[in-house]
Amino acid sequence: MTTPETAGRPYFDECRACGDGLLRFWICRATGAFALLCDECHAIWSHVGDLADDPTLKPDYTYPDFPGEKALTWEASSLTDIRDHDLEFRVGGYSV
Ligand SMILES: [Zn+2]
Repeated sequence: MTTPETAGRPYFDECRACGDGLLRFWICRATGAFALLCDECHAIWSHVGDLADDPTLKPDYTYPDFPGEKALTWEASSLTDIRDHDLEFRVGGYSV
């Protein structure tokens, strides 16, 4: 059995833009904001909840252009970050 403790990196869902990638959780350390980044086509959705509510929502950024000021630091989010921000219910699965 795979558990969050033993599995790999969390993802939200398959990418709605390219269909090939997985949407990973990214966090802005300066603001605590979360975004979803496709690991294949690099499309970014800057509002996790909005995409959950509307699967047809278009991405609003493309890596490396993240929302907010350029100086703000974005990085791949850990499961701990996700849990700390009560977003674990948004995790659709885990992969390497
Ligand atoms: Zn994609």
